[in-house]
Parts: sequence; structure tokens; C-alpha cells
Amino acid sequence: MKPKRLPPIPKSIQTPLGPLPIIVTEAQPHWPNGGRGSGGYYDSRQYRMYVASDMGLLTQWHILLHERGHNIADLGVEFDSDGQEESFCKAFATVMLHEMLYG
Ligand SMILES: [Zn+2]
Repeated sequence: MKPKRLPPIPKSIQTPLGPLPIIVTEAQPHWPNGGRGSGGYYDSRQYRMYVASDMGLLTQWHILLHERGHNIADLGVEFDSDGQEESFCKAFATVMLHEMLYG
């Protein structure tokens, strides 16, 4: 089946806590690992999400959905470890992107 065309990265997404701004920009030093090898960052304190600008749209969406997973964790999902949260975010992003492409 041919994949659907992905929409552009939105300027914000609606969440139960209100709009979550999404900023597409160069990787920043305050992101995890100083931005090196980091495609995005969910800033729970400022309630905004960053996506690196030097990636293709498919990868940007995968990063956005991964960071949305961290946002969902903030909304009340309990994990026993950071590793469990990362596993959830990876699975969530992959499933959601598949639905966007083939759903
Ligand atoms: Zn993560």
C-alpha cells in the first residue's frame, strides 16, 4: 500500500493541558546530550516541544511523536524507570506514525 502524504509539522498540538507549541529549530545545547545526536526535546517546564530542523519530514514526525510520548507520560502515566518510559515513547511513535502513513 502506498503511504499517505504527511502534513507539515504543526505549530502546536492540542493537549489536555492546553496547546503545546512545537518549535522547529537547530539542535540546542540544552537538549539532552547537548543536542548532539538529539532530534528533539520535550520541555515539560516551559511546556513546549522542539524538533530539529536538519531532518526530513518523516524523521521529524517520528521525533515529534516520540516527544509526545514523553508529554503523555507527564499527563499521568507511571513508569518504574526512564528505560520503560523510553520504550513506551518508541513504541507509541512508531505505531502513531504507521497509522498516519497507512491508517
Ligand atoms: Zn525519549
